[in-house]
Amino acid sequence: MRAAIVGGGLTGLFTAMMLARRGHDVVVFDRDAGPPGDGETWQRVGVMQFHLPHTFRHQVIDALAVELPDVLAAVIAAGAEVAGGPDPADRPAVLRCRRSLLEWVLRVHAAAEPGVTLVSGHVDEILTERGCAVGVRLGSRYVRADLVLDASGRASRLTDGIRPLPEGAPCGAVYLSRQYELQPGAPPGPTNSVLGLALSYPGYWAITFLHDNRAFSIALVHDGTDRRLRELRHVDVFDAAVSAIPHLCEWVDPRRSVPLTPVQVGGRLENTYRGQLDGSGRPAVPGLISVGDAVCTTTPLAGRGVALAFLQARGLVRQLDDHRHDLHSATMGFDQWCATNIKPWFIDHVYCDSERQLRWAGADIDPSRPLPSDLIVAAAEADPRLQPIVGPYLAMEALPASLTAARPLAQEVYRRGWRPPVPPGPSKQELAELCAHRSSASSREIPLIRGFPEAFASAREEKVTH
Ligand SMILES: Cc1cc2nc3c(=O)[nH]c(=O)nc-3n(C[C@H](O)[C@H](O)[C@H](O)COP(=O)(O)OP(=O)(O)OC[C@H]3O[C@@H](n4cnc5c(N)ncnc54)[C@H](O)[C@@H]3O)c2cc1C
Repeated sequence: MRAAIVGGGLTGLFTAMMLARRGHDVVVFDRDAGPPGDGETWQRVGVMQFHLPHTFRHQVIDALAVELPDVLAAVIAAGAEVAGGPDPADRPAVLRCRRSLLEWVLRVHAAAEPGVTLVSGHVDEILTERGCAVGVRLGSRYVRADLVLDASGRASRLTDGIRPLPEGAPCGAVYLSRQYELQPGAPPGPTNSVLGLALSYPGYWAITFLHDNRAFSIALVHDGTDRRLRELRHVDVFDAAVSAIPHLCEWVDPRRSVPLTPVQVGGRLENTYRGQLDGSGRPAVPGLISVGDAVCTTTPLAGRGVALAFLQARGLVRQLDDHRHDLHSATMGFDQWCATNIKPWFIDHVYCDSERQLRWAGADIDPSRPLPSDLIVAAAEADPRLQPIVGPYLAMEALPASLTAARPLAQEVYRRGWRPPVPPGPSKQELAELCAHRSSASSREIPLIRGFPEAFASAREEKVTH
């Protein structure tokens, strides 16, 4: 089968390599020209979150270990780290790696993969004949394919008008982050999770993400309602805010670390879900299947995006294997699989985010309302009987519905008056006042991605055509 994949992000590249290793002929189109040479920054137009902090869950590690073990080995050789829980017997929990490094390595391998061709260019249109997808158009160039995969991500409008619009709701989260590098010999700062350090305040989050090659990111996340917090985009203001947060400030002590980037901003984030079918329950465009963020996006803070995308990619390839010459059945099967295994996470995020936004606006927890999942998880700190129920949910090994059994116990915890403890640090109001006070019109320019692994900066992509 000849497959055309629109989008050479993590989902498109991962899917392309899986299909090629099953004997299919795959062409991947991406409007991005690919990594630059000579250690320059890969600006990655079209993927706003490219340099924002990511952590990759064990589903991502598993997917790579099973499907592309050479890519997993290469990303580890390039400095990424597989980390587990506190117990040495714990299974790998996260891949500590900048997203740019993972995508770079994946792209280099995809370019060298027999059966995969990478093409740089903007796909303007999905070509259809009698309502079925038959290929793609880039300007005046027409490329025919038996199957078109839409892996064009969260920002693309490519299939608007030919697929039903997504359902969704705002995440209520604006990201501001900076990357740093630990000084030679300096130990990491304080940690409280396998991710790094996660501090949750009533009104904002402050997080340290551990990455590859002694790099780490600090992210401050607020809901966008207080205009004064927008000043955090300036380096001076961001630094002052980080310095005001106990534990976090220890990470940015100049004896411990140096900044690698200016402040990067990610906003307008939405939880979205978009199935494959039209109103009559049939594939909206036979021969066209969407995958990855083109199907589902969720609040980044839970770090589920790439796990959900890779789970989808594997689910899709299984359907294509099972229904070799029957794209209709494969599409129907994949849509059903996503409705069962992916959509519940979207629904969970929509409810958690709407409840969190109420709390961040000042509302107290109301145990008479259905408790959102994050509060059920938090209650496990007060009632250890909840641990065995929330653990599999947290690891995404059980769907959100698995928390139903925990709801009454969690409700009891909140009825007794328990509330999640707040770490020492400024309130949202105090942080906003600090921002207003330190407001600065300019940010210092610091080159992006210093010290990126040479091996990948200079990697050649033999099969990329422009
Ligand atoms: C702020 C933020 C933080 C996040 N943090 C995490 C995290 O910690 N962990 C996690 O697992 N996930 C995280 N995510 C989610 C994760 O980034 C996405 O799930 C992931 O990028 C999905 O990959 P994708 O390949 O489906 O889409 P994308 O990465 O968006 O790739 C889509 C590709 O399609 C290309 N494209 C689009 N339209 C066209 C066209 N017409 N022609 C040619 N090319 C086109 C784009 O250029 C792009 O390369 C985060 C997201 C955000 C916004």
